[in-house]
Amino acid sequence: MSVDSAPAGARIERGAGRDVILELKNLSVSYGNIKAVQNLDLTVHAGEIVTLIGSNGAGKSTTLRTISGLLKPKTGEVIYKGKKINGIPGHDVVKLGICQSPEGRKIFQRMTVSENLDLGAFTRNDTAKIAQDRERVLELFPRLRERINQKAGTMSGGEQQMLAVARALLGDPTLLLLDEPSMGLAPVLVDLIFETIETIRDQGVTVLLVEQNALAALEIADYAYVLESGRLNLEGPAEALLDDDSVAAAYLGG
Ligand code: ATP
Repeated sequence: MSVDSAPAGARIERGAGRDVILELKNLSVSYGNIKAVQNLDLTVHAGEIVTLIGSNGAGKSTTLRTISGLLKPKTGEVIYKGKKINGIPGHDVVKLGICQSPEGRKIFQRMTVSENLDLGAFTRNDTAKIAQDRERVLELFPRLRERINQKAGTMSGGEQQMLAVARALLGDPTLLLLDEPSMGLAPVLVDLIFETIETIRDQGVTVLLVEQNALAALEIADYAYVLESGRLNLEGPAEALLDDDSVAAAYLGG
């Protein structure tokens, strides 16, 4: 619940009664001399949608890639369920329950929808549960069921984006990392993808959502962090940020 919707005088602490699932502590990440992320502190509680917003080059994707184990931090820590995980390779991070849907529809273009979904479950051997999860994502994205044997690269941009999210869900994530799921989508599909992210959260998956579409992200998120040139600029309940004049001016088009 957000502070804004609490009765007057009854300030409700963020995440009350919920476990902290992910913590970034004083995280800094560089590419050579380029300081992409500097001294970032961020917390995600179980059951939340947390969004990380900011302009081009703010360091959002770098943060996600560091959590996924694809990049190593220069300093600081990534703590998942109380254990430090920075330094663990990406394929082992997936086994811990952290799955990333990549930016820019990086699915396997020459493979079918079905084969892409199979690959999403590559770290798992719980065959019956995989079949159940596959059915669940095909219910979430009926369009993918219609296209199950189509080559992924021949689908529309929006369909490919759905497949990227669906494939990440087949990894059975506890924490789903979404990198710009609305990028390049028509408004009607943007609405659909954000509604689906809420459904995913309601089904028990915690979501860390990176978005340039700050308005849509803040509308579904519980809590938000604003990055500016690699540094944390602002954080707060998403509802409060939606009402913040400086956020409106910088990220919501006035
Ligand atoms: P966008 O919304 O435009 O994708 P972002 O917030 O996700 O931006 P990042 O992709 O994390 O930003 O980039 C942060 C900074 O790091 C940028 O200045 C970018 O140019 C730089 N950067 C990202 N990847 C690399 C790389 N592989 N090598 C060198 N610099 C990089």
